[in-house]
Amino acid sequence: MKKLNEFNLNNKKVIIRCDFNVPIKDGKIIDDTRIKAALETINYCIKQNAKIILLSHLGRIKEEADLVKNDLLPVSLRLSELLNKKVLFVNKTRGKEVTQTIANMHPQDIILLQNTRYEDLTGKKESSNDEELGKYWASLGEIFINDAFGTIHRAHASNVGIATYLPSTFGFLIEKELTALNNLNNPEHPFVVILGGAKVNDKIGVIENLVTKADKILIGGGMAFTFLKAQNYEIGTSLLDEANIDFCKKILKKYSSKIVLPIDIAVSKTFTNDEKYRTTTIENIKNDEMGLDIGPKTTALFEEILSSAKLVVWNGPLGVYEFNNYRINTDKLLNYIVNNNIKTILAGGDIVAVATTAGVKDKIYHVSTGGGATLEYLEGKKLPGIEAIK
Ligand code: AMP
Repeated sequence: MKKLNEFNLNNKKVIIRCDFNVPIKDGKIIDDTRIKAALETINYCIKQNAKIILLSHLGRIKEEADLVKNDLLPVSLRLSELLNKKVLFVNKTRGKEVTQTIANMHPQDIILLQNTRYEDLTGKKESSNDEELGKYWASLGEIFINDAFGTIHRAHASNVGIATYLPSTFGFLIEKELTALNNLNNPEHPFVVILGGAKVNDKIGVIENLVTKADKILIGGGMAFTFLKAQNYEIGTSLLDEANIDFCKKILKKYSSKIVLPIDIAVSKTFTNDEKYRTTTIENIKNDEMGLDIGPKTTALFEEILSSAKLVVWNGPLGVYEFNNYRINTDKLLNYIVNNNIKTILAGGDIVAVATTAGVKDKIYHVSTGGGATLEYLEGKKLPGIEAIK
């Protein structure tokens, strides 16, 4: 696979699949982080004298009403401001207006087509990677750059479809993600995994894949209680994923030296932030109490293990971080990682949200923005958007 900087883009029609899936309310963009993140690749293509055709999805399109809500026009206006350059918006995903506009483009011109998922309204053409649609979009350009990491685990017409028919490569955003995540294929040791979040069921693939590579897996969050239950601890009214108790037993038996469970827990009688909570050892959780965070002794134990780690990957908060009382230990461990300069990849939306509000996000080695894409990467799955280009 040729890298982006190995392509001659001069005077070439270059299609860039961006991730402009930004939150929009009443036609106003609430958070333009994703648009800003796309600038590096776009600016590079401008410098290389390319004709730039941008594609992106926005939200989901299931019915007519979704069209207005998910119109990409506001994105073109914001992008234009950020680039300090005109971005021509074509309110169509295909047809004469599209082909004519492209035929009239000069080098360094930029156009943005309408939301690729408008094609989902009838027959889910974008999301089912309709062959004819992928071929059509590919016919609009000469080179394809995929820079939308968030959809890399999906085979859609605007990523896999186009890549099938054009010389293709990754943009700088995806390149950065893949370089960082590549650390996991051949990790430096000790390699420590921190897993939190809600249910065991959502993380089975991640556990099965990473337990073979990691030296230690530190488990917190709601997940920890199914593991504790599997060891016959009384967990009161804590989150229990009954169907996966046997899975936990199996993992605990096979990898007993790798799995590290909490030794103390912050418990409360209600799922609120107001209730007075107490910290208890795992042997003393009462029937009417639920565990909402790990405790300080567990945090100290996790810190000790992390102190020698050469690589850490962390998915999922260790407590109900939405309540201030129960984010304390996740915050503390994040700060420990930052203060001790431990090479860490944060993977998945919730832990990234905690790191952002704790003000440490920019000090972490890599923050993976992919959500579902990152999780599938951690499960060791082959991702269609990557395979199509490789
Ligand atoms: P996930 O999307 O699987 O990473 O889960 C994130 C969610 O897990 C957050 O909304 C947290 O509130 C939740 N969570 C973390 N710890 C617990 C806990 N002890 N009990 C219930 N939910 C939890």
